[in-house]
Amino acid sequence: MSRLESRNPATGLPIGDVPVTPVDAIAGIVRDARAAQAPWARTTPEERARIIIEAASGLADRADELGTLLTKEMGKPLREGIGEVQACSDVRETVAEISDAIRPVRREGNNVRSTIHYDPLGVCAAITPWNFPMMMPHWHVIPALMAGNAVVLKPSEETPLIAQAYVDTLNERLPKDLLNVVHGDEAQGRALVAADVDLITFTGSREAGKHILAAASAGLKRVILELGGKDPLIVLEGADIPAAAAFAARNAFRNAGQVCVSTERIYVNERVMEPFLDAMLRETQALLIGDGLSEATQIGPMINHGQRDHVMRQISDATEAGAGVLCGGQVKDDHWIAPTILTGVTHAMDIAREETFGPVACILPVANDDETIRLANDTPFGLGAVVFGEEAHAHRVARSLTAGMIGVNRGLGGAPNTPWVGAGESGYGFHHSTEGHRQFCQVRVISEPG
Ligand code: NAD
Repeated sequence: MSRLESRNPATGLPIGDVPVTPVDAIAGIVRDARAAQAPWARTTPEERARIIIEAASGLADRADELGTLLTKEMGKPLREGIGEVQACSDVRETVAEISDAIRPVRREGNNVRSTIHYDPLGVCAAITPWNFPMMMPHWHVIPALMAGNAVVLKPSEETPLIAQAYVDTLNERLPKDLLNVVHGDEAQGRALVAADVDLITFTGSREAGKHILAAASAGLKRVILELGGKDPLIVLEGADIPAAAAFAARNAFRNAGQVCVSTERIYVNERVMEPFLDAMLRETQALLIGDGLSEATQIGPMINHGQRDHVMRQISDATEAGAGVLCGGQVKDDHWIAPTILTGVTHAMDIAREETFGPVACILPVANDDETIRLANDTPFGLGAVVFGEEAHAHRVARSLTAGMIGVNRGLGGAPNTPWVGAGESGYGFHHSTEGHRQFCQVRVISEPG
């Protein structure tokens, strides 16, 4: 059986391997999952919640070990690696929210009494990326299982070891074959989509999302797609400039910009451009790049050379077309890209409209709200956006943006029970919240005389 080798992006050296799942074995894995799902679907949400809480708590006992593996495999700073494992280990609030979302709902009127049931769908194929290599599988696995489904996970080929460790830890408590894993690349992903699954939940690139949606259409399989982004930050006249600049440097460069809701474009009112750029440059130059295992590191390496080269190509295309490099713009020690601020970016450049997924912030001066909104919406993506400005003004601008999640004077993360949702080509279906959890269910309405 061939092996999938995993490499440390900070050194390029192998750190372990997993067996590649033969494409022709995938149908059998899905059949086993379906057999395991039948008795699981007959358990109550309370029983499922108890087992899932216990299963996830096993991650807490191993948070340091798994966080270290996550950092070695993906590159992010160790405290963020350990933080990601810890965040996955306590699911009590999440399962309580899901239990509420899937509780039957009664409706009455016109002499009819109806009950809306949120039943399991069957087998869920979860296909995930590498940038949050435990959190992304977790966002799919927990709501799918809580809704009474089985899951076959196809994690990214860049981060198979941490995904396998996640599955193994949960499987210490879960019934056999309810959660299984398929290792490989696009070929295994395609085979899983084509297999006898009822729901495909995918987080990854827009291009792969489009393939999956087309492939799923043959069987009208349910699909949830969380895709890429090109998030704008808007800095209005009257904004708290130090706060906006600190947010910009944090959100453009965190995880080396390899975050779907990274700030990739910054539209700054020309009257506040100078103080904003000064403050952002200061914040950016203070960031330390290095191996995620070293305690001082704030920015880790690029996941692989392909991603590094894509980012550098976008930067050089932009500079050839007239953009200026305020800082960064070069590769360091083969695996890193120094946090980069580009000025003079225009919407004729690829980097203004297409996802970068690297540590690059493009600065674009704007004269008024109309121009800001028009340019901010001039991309096929629409995941998140952030607006800094005087409150009423910022709200007005926020309501005109084509994005699923918008932060006003803060990041875009929502309160409990709010969805993680995209607009445009950033997504199709979403995560969290009552509406999100119900996507993992077959809605069944039973009506009787009443
Ligand atoms: P990717 O699309 O290359 O791969 C994601 C997964 O899909 C991998 O497991 C891969 O093997 C599999 N795959 C690829 N092509 C496939 C196909 N045709 N059929 C089935 N499976 C296929 O993405 P990536 O490079 O791993 O991740 C980066 C992307 O993920 C970025 O675009 C980023 O914005 C996006 N992302 C989005 C969110 C969100 O919440 N919207 C969160 C994290 C990452």
